[in-house]
Amino acid sequence: MNNCQTKVVKFGGTSLASAEQMQKAVAIIRAEDARRYVVPSAPGKRFDGDKKVTDMLIALHHTAEQSLPCEDLLAEIEQRYTEILRGLGSSLDLTPEFAAIREQLQAGTTLDYLASRGEYLNGLILADCLGFPFIDAAEVIFFDENGAFEPELTNRVLSRRLSRQRCAVIPGFYGSLPNGEIKTFSRGGSDVTGAIVARAANADLYENWTDVSGFLMADPRIVPSPRAIEVITYRELRELSYMGAAVLHEDSIFPVKVAGIPINIKNTNRPGDDGTFIVPSKDGFRGVATASPGSITGVAGRKGLCLVHIEKDMMNQEIGFGAKVLQVVADMGLSFEHLPSGIDTMCVVLSRADIAGKESELLERIRDAVQPDFIAIEGELALIAVVGRGMTGAPGSAARVFGALAKKKINIRMIDQGSSELNIIVGVNEGDFERAVDAIYAEFTSK
Ligand code: ASP
Repeated sequence: MNNCQTKVVKFGGTSLASAEQMQKAVAIIRAEDARRYVVPSAPGKRFDGDKKVTDMLIALHHTAEQSLPCEDLLAEIEQRYTEILRGLGSSLDLTPEFAAIREQLQAGTTLDYLASRGEYLNGLILADCLGFPFIDAAEVIFFDENGAFEPELTNRVLSRRLSRQRCAVIPGFYGSLPNGEIKTFSRGGSDVTGAIVARAANADLYENWTDVSGFLMADPRIVPSPRAIEVITYRELRELSYMGAAVLHEDSIFPVKVAGIPINIKNTNRPGDDGTFIVPSKDGFRGVATASPGSITGVAGRKGLCLVHIEKDMMNQEIGFGAKVLQVVADMGLSFEHLPSGIDTMCVVLSRADIAGKESELLERIRDAVQPDFIAIEGELALIAVVGRGMTGAPGSAARVFGALAKKKINIRMIDQGSSELNIIVGVNEGDFERAVDAIYAEFTSK
């Protein structure tokens, strides 16, 4: 990817938490001419137990709402920026910016305005350091009057603006409402801004700089030193994220996926590491086949689930049986996770937290709807997703998953595989969860 014309580079909070970190980011940007558009987060934690600037800004709003004195907290935030500027040897003066924030605070400003200032100020600092123009995200990223992001309007305005600017700094995390007020994305939303800018700039690559060298094949709290994932497709990532493996904001996939732009997760503290490439298609990347047949990309899972187990003789001949059960689930405002079924049995996998306190009502309503012979809620279920485009059309993948669990004497309570063959999902007792993930990982990684 060194012959790229345009890269959008987004830096996360830990990559910009202090002057030292910011210097690393600046060096990374300067190292390649293609790194033309920069999207910063707000300063994050410098050490365990430190405060993120965004959290401090949110606390500032709560303090103001309760009519408590805000000055100490605001001074603490200002101090974070003063230290960064001093460490960078910058002569940028943020006093007028803080005066504007004070004024807005007194006028009873919104939570979103305050929360967005972390990115806004970091953007000003980076633009000054790099000598890049600063584009306020409020001028180019739009939400409708209900607060929903407006992708097409944003893309039109932003791409026009970027076409006139060879390089720029655009702060992450926020945009504006039709009335001009600031509106933020959900937490971690600078990832989304980075993807929006990548699409509008028609970038060759979206580099997302963070504090890890990409995704790991399994949770390192379960599997010691898991391998890094070199290449993963958008769809595989979605499957693994659904199961709880999170590095990137979920909504950040969509804008780059539309434009077919790969994302590269990189480590600001180890810029030489390749990191993970997230790519649009399973068919190859940079001329290299991206997965060997029978290989897996990752394994992830979730605890805290339960099964509603329903049995009825001749269920398979009763038209509408499943629909009636799912109608009850929907009417109760529940979202089901999976639906493994047999001939005369049907199982609905639900989150235990979602149905807490509603168990009897759920059973009663399903009984009324379909008069089952047997119905019960079986708890303590964990799901594990084994994900990999390499499993598609590769005989033996499922046998290896089940064999690995059998060898460890782990009972499989449920099995689910979509026809994409991109994943195999198994349900096990929560008590077996960690051992099961470890066994599956070992099966596919040891020679
Ligand atoms: N600063 C925001 C947050 O802490 C957005 C981001 O960092 O992506 O959630």
